[in-house]
Amino acid sequence: MCSPLEARTVPAQMPPANALDYDYSSFFYSSSDDPFAILGPYNEWFDRAMPEGYYLFSQAMSTPPQGDIRLTEGLHQRQLRLVNLSSYNYLGLSARSEVIAAAKAALDAYGLGAAGSPILSGMMDIHVHLEEALARFKGKEAAMVFPTGYSTNVGLISGLMRAGDWVIADQNAHASIVDGAIMSKANVRFFRHNNPADLERKLKQTTGKKLVAIEGVYSMDGDVCPLPDLVAVAKKHGARIMLDEAHSAFVYGPNGRGIAELYGLENEVDIHIGTFSKALGGQGGYVAGSRHLYNYLKGFARSRVFSCALSPVVAAGVLKSLELAESEPQLRDQLWDNVRHIRGRFEEAGVDVGDSTSQIIPIMVRNDRRVFEICHKLLGAGVYLQPVIYPAVTKHRSRFRVSISAAHTREQLDEGAATLVRVLREERILL
Ligand code: PMP
Repeated sequence: MCSPLEARTVPAQMPPANALDYDYSSFFYSSSDDPFAILGPYNEWFDRAMPEGYYLFSQAMSTPPQGDIRLTEGLHQRQLRLVNLSSYNYLGLSARSEVIAAAKAALDAYGLGAAGSPILSGMMDIHVHLEEALARFKGKEAAMVFPTGYSTNVGLISGLMRAGDWVIADQNAHASIVDGAIMSKANVRFFRHNNPADLERKLKQTTGKKLVAIEGVYSMDGDVCPLPDLVAVAKKHGARIMLDEAHSAFVYGPNGRGIAELYGLENEVDIHIGTFSKALGGQGGYVAGSRHLYNYLKGFARSRVFSCALSPVVAAGVLKSLELAESEPQLRDQLWDNVRHIRGRFEEAGVDVGDSTSQIIPIMVRNDRRVFEICHKLLGAGVYLQPVIYPAVTKHRSRFRVSISAAHTREQLDEGAATLVRVLREERILL
């Protein structure tokens, strides 16, 4: 028996915390005046999380990001040959011989980098060709190329919106939309995911300049936005609409022009955004719209004005990817065949894929510890599926995200799906 006082005494040695008792949110603030004070606690956690296997990020790939890869696995640093279900590369173009040849030719013609901002010396004729080809493809007056998709949203929103204006974004909007809105100093409101009625409620609470920011396909859930209803609500309240088609451009719509084309609303959407890092297997982003918008952003999109132009090597590769995406619609057919095939495998096995109807298929685990453990098991079984946790998704919504490409073979899809289903059953995620 111990006295009540003894019972309340804190043990001298607290049991060691598990690395998973913490996540990024634990290390955002510190009470010190020294900005470096947070580095010690964070690295203490990091040094525990790594060997315990709870930090499976940035595992290095040594092949192109296609269906069959070699990867240095993060826990034991073993080189593994794996079926890859994690990369974007939706049309399988990242390592197409024509794309590689175009990039090599550009390397010979221009050297490695643009060596300047596009507003100064960094604009090369290959950038002009890419912007013109994109504008033609999107059926818009002009298209502007940025070094990344991230800097596209940041530059566009902070270039256009000002303090006192309103950015009304879907609650699942990508970090680049959120960061652009914060940087603009406009008021920011989020409406419930894919919910036009809530968008309307939020729009009614605002006055002045309004920009509604939505995505074609959402990157973590793979669901498509209800564009007609969102556009109708935005128009009714006099808001401009920006549509980020990072995951839908070049794959959706009769001609691959995206969700706006699919719904016949290309002229109703004011600003079309996309990236080259997904379907085209390259890097960079674009804004397509009016010539007036182009001219204005040229001066005011600071992420482009104050940053070196996209490498001409990448610009040439992306231009070739775009040509192939246009001239080979069968790549989209192949992608959608593959998506149907693996969805069929998941449905047979009773895997819950949420509201996904796209090439992005979430596999919900809802527990950070389990998602890392299962990731290890999958690596051992020959499948690469990257764990997705906070802050990429909200807490307790951790998951795997399957990404399908036109370049996956049936064998890779069958092997990947069968292994995933077996492991999910063994781990009691799937009953
Ligand atoms: N927008 C969305 C919707 C995205 O999902 C992403 C990347 N995942 C980006 C923008 C940023 O694109 P990038 O990776 O090409 O910079």
